[in-house]
Amino acid sequence: MTGESIFRALPCDCCGSSRWEYKFSEGGFDLGRCAECGLHYIAQMPTQEGRMMEMEHRRFGANRRVIDAGLQRDEETRYRGRFQHYVELARRFAPPGKWLDVGCGTGTLIGLVEELDIDIEGIELTPDRREAARRLTGATIYDRPIEALDLAEESFAVVTLTNVFSHLVSPARTFSHIRRLLRMGGVLLLATSEIGPGVARHHDYSWYLGDHLYFLGDHTIERYADNLGFQLVYREKKWAPDLLYRRQRFLTKGGSALRNVIKGACVYTPGVLPLLRLYMLKVRNRKNPHYVSTLLLKKVPVRQPGQIREPARVKDGPVAGRIIETAGRAPKPDDAVRSKPNS
Ligand SMILES: [Zn+2]
Repeated sequence: MTGESIFRALPCDCCGSSRWEYKFSEGGFDLGRCAECGLHYIAQMPTQEGRMMEMEHRRFGANRRVIDAGLQRDEETRYRGRFQHYVELARRFAPPGKWLDVGCGTGTLIGLVEELDIDIEGIELTPDRREAARRLTGATIYDRPIEALDLAEESFAVVTLTNVFSHLVSPARTFSHIRRLLRMGGVLLLATSEIGPGVARHHDYSWYLGDHLYFLGDHTIERYADNLGFQLVYREKKWAPDLLYRRQRFLTKGGSALRNVIKGACVYTPGVLPLLRLYMLKVRNRKNPHYVSTLLLKKVPVRQPGQIREPARVKDGPVAGRIIETAGRAPKPDDAVRSKPNS
């Protein structure tokens, strides 16, 4: 633990409910799920100041370290295609105008947007990543949270938050600030996890609790959107284990030297990775409801009581080991049922 003084307990960030149901613990942090909206969050929520201090020093929890800018850059480069996909998706839905990448890492997405001659700025709180992003892109990279910056209202067409949601101290507060900065019709692109109620600790080898503070439930984002004046216009879901047990993932180095050696051995010993993948997908993760989602939210006027919105286009990824790719699927009737609060 980083010290009791920076922790405080909170009601649900999305719906305000205090009905928090315990799921599992890791590294001294307890993860639970809001019984109303499905948002998963840790009980030991840090304050904004405590979290800022951790980011400055690239650490969290009981002295665990976040990877340095060099490893971060390697990972971003390996997943360059995914960033390209985010940029193409946001362009498809957004009006013309300036972009902002919140938690821009070493600036891979910024570089791709600059190649299109679109103005873009970034925010990065970890010093070595921020310096790398400035050096590699030449863009303005801010060193403070979005809430503390004096940016002009309605001055951005697109705001991107890729792999950032889980690290926010209050996503609702951050979303509200983003909405103020977006022009009407502007787009917030979110790349993050969505997990169902049956998630268990063994469904991932590390959940990085303490660094990860929140995970969306399977329909929490609709609640956030409705509360804050956004409309979900696009969702793409990929089953997390399918992404995790791929060669590309095993070639990405993390902060643990031992784990890097084991991952290398799996990739370079013939037959090991396919067998491991088969076991992990068909047996160990058979009921794992963890998805990695790309979500596009459009800024709309705050919804009036009784007003009904068009459903989002949904592209589902693999479900329980079977790969199902359905573009433009309309929500099934049970989606609507499941999105209601389980009161
Ligand atoms: Zn809730």
